[in-house]
Amino acid sequence: MAIVYLSLGSNIGDRVGFVQQATSLLGAHPDINIVATSSFYESEPWKMDSDNWFVNAIVQITTSLTPELLLDECQRIECQLGRPKDRTNEYSDRTIDIDIVFYDNLVLNNERLTLPHKYFHKRAFMLVPMLEIAEDFVHPFFGKTVESLYEEIENPEMVCLYGTRI
Ligand code: AMP
Repeated sequence: MAIVYLSLGSNIGDRVGFVQQATSLLGAHPDINIVATSSFYESEPWKMDSDNWFVNAIVQITTSLTPELLLDECQRIECQLGRPKDRTNEYSDRTIDIDIVFYDNLVLNNERLTLPHKYFHKRAFMLVPMLEIAEDFVHPFFGKTVESLYEEIENPEMVCLYGTRI
């Protein structure tokens, strides 16, 4: 079983409800077990032209799915919760976004997946909830703990509000 950390975010509609529903749907899959969930945080849209703040959380799971099959499942849940299938490269408002942040200690970069998530170390809205549930986890590419990566963020005011618990 792989230990995986997922980042969930929603910035329209019932944002907390969408993150909760996505977590429930993940847990309902026969090959996914929910191990831990962080608190919910609120963050300003990152590199997006939107006034709608996000609700973010990190969910730790164990799974026997491969990274690609897990991504399929995450995308299926995104569609089920109303996220349009056709996407441009632009960031846009979304009922739910599910990203794979870490899949064990796997480092890979292919057409569909970059692992660890390529912006994890820059985004306070991923780092702060991750600190809560796995501060000693070592980033397999940078060889640094989540805690030390968080201390290194250069412009935290540009990435989020340090996680306002709601
Ligand atoms: P987003 O708009 O953030 O949901 O980005 C989705 C796209 O990012 C999909 O086409 C995925 O194939 C790609 N992607 C690359 N790496 C990851 C990752 N670690 N987790 C989720 N999606 C990823």
